[in-house]
Amino acid sequence: MSKISISNPFPSPSLLEKVLITELIDVARVCYSRGWCAGTAGNFSLRGSRGLIWQSPSGLSKSQLSSDAFVAVDIESGHPVEPSVRLPSLEMPVHLGVYRAVAEARCVVHAHPPGLVARSRDCLDLVIRGAEMQKPLGSINHLQELRLPVIKNYTPDAMPQLATELVGSLIKDVPLIILAGHGVYAWGDSPLEALSRVEAVEFLCQSAAF
Ligand SMILES: [Zn+2]
Repeated sequence: MSKISISNPFPSPSLLEKVLITELIDVARVCYSRGWCAGTAGNFSLRGSRGLIWQSPSGLSKSQLSSDAFVAVDIESGHPVEPSVRLPSLEMPVHLGVYRAVAEARCVVHAHPPGLVARSRDCLDLVIRGAEMQKPLGSINHLQELRLPVIKNYTPDAMPQLATELVGSLIKDVPLIILAGHGVYAWGDSPLEALSRVEAVEFLCQSAAF
């Protein structure tokens, strides 16, 4: 009798991706504990292999994420690649926009740090000079002028449009974009690097460095 082998047709994270998703969950808990992801706010993702991202789900507290709740989404089409009871975050299109535009972005962290939310309400780019904490955000030193892009906030139904429009607002070598009065999307080679960039911009906003 011939053996029938059944394999799961849906993707699962590689070992390295599992490690990075665990790190991403730790980063989400840090953001939650600091009050940067109140309620169910904030979203987190990782660029995987085969043109996929692993996206945090919609509607969950960032204190309660687990690795099996992350949803695999095709970067090109923007659709989840397997049926799931979980939906990806409503702000997933912004993550996709970043991954499509920035080849080196491996992880994206989105949070609502209150200092940054307050300082970005008027939808003007944040222009900083003379602050040591510019350096994690792309400045060679504190003497350089650092411009951080701020774009208007979008309603959830218009997020796919934002994914396209944000590309024109990105600034070379600046690893983040700010939605006015809403929050920041920061990216990096690892979850901890992306988190360090959220920390740096929030520190600049709180210390009135501009
Ligand atoms: Zn948000």
